[in-house]
Amino acid sequence: ESWIPFNHPRRESLIIREMLVDGFKAGYVATQGLIAHGRGECFDYLIGEVSIPPALTAERIAVAVLLTAKHPVISVNGNTAALVPRQIVKLAGLVNARIEVNLFYRTREREELIAKVLRDNGAEEVLGVGDDASCVIPELFSERRRASCRGIYVADVVLVPLEDGDRTEALRRMGKTVIAIDLNPLSRTSRAASITIVDNVVRAIPNMIKFAEELRNWSRDELVNMVRGFNNDENLRSVLRYIVDRLNKLANEDFLIEFPKQ
Ligand code: ATP
Ligand code: MG
Repeated sequence: ESWIPFNHPRRESLIIREMLVDGFKAGYVATQGLIAHGRGECFDYLIGEVSIPPALTAERIAVAVLLTAKHPVISVNGNTAALVPRQIVKLAGLVNARIEVNLFYRTREREELIAKVLRDNGAEEVLGVGDDASCVIPELFSERRRASCRGIYVADVVLVPLEDGDRTEALRRMGKTVIAIDLNPLSRTSRAASITIVDNVVRAIPNMIKFAEELRNWSRDELVNMVRGFNNDENLRSVLRYIVDRLNKLANEDFLIEFPKQ
């Protein structure tokens, strides 16, 4: 990140890219992960690179659901490990969730590298590595169907930052509550999840840590009541409306582009 000028208008975004490139060079971010990030960046541009109100709502509800779960699991892939490893471990501690490595492109080497990144960031236990991922998610093919028998396989609630549509649907069919973090409100993942957080993981996880610090003092009844009022379809519609309104506003402004003053 040293080459990025401090006043560069896209500095934040470039630093995040560098973190992924570093993870790629270290061998645990998949090539496809770099492409997926680009797709995410596009949607982040549309929402204005901030946590929009429906995202904050979903993040708060998601934390309440995690806090009331019996066996909550946070699924971690290469991109998540590259971007928010310390924050994942912190959130897992606050909501008492187990952490599981869960890769679309599973290799033993990548699993172990990701587990190491998480342990270096304070995780005491990382599920889903090697033989630990010996249970099979029904109706999925190839290595993607493997999950830990102590983790995702038996979980009632799974938080999946950057998950794939097929697997989200398969987890739902198993009766699990799936919380997805996905910048694309139109993806199959976003549509199939029980709770969809349309936000960048680099903002979503820190927001969820703050909500967890607040909500962990609430009673179970209060949490259950709060969750009851939530409707994911309605919340996703609010996301689309937000984007439409924002683009309309921008389209009607006099100056779309502001040139930097010399
Ligand atoms: P689906 O399989 O759900 O239809 P897809 O095939 O379009 O989705 P994938 O390549 O499976 O997408 O997964 C990448 C998803 O992750 C994209 O939808 C992208 O918007 C999202 N994404 C990428 N980077 C981030 C990020 N930093 N924060 C949140 N979401 C992200
Ligand atoms: Mg996909």
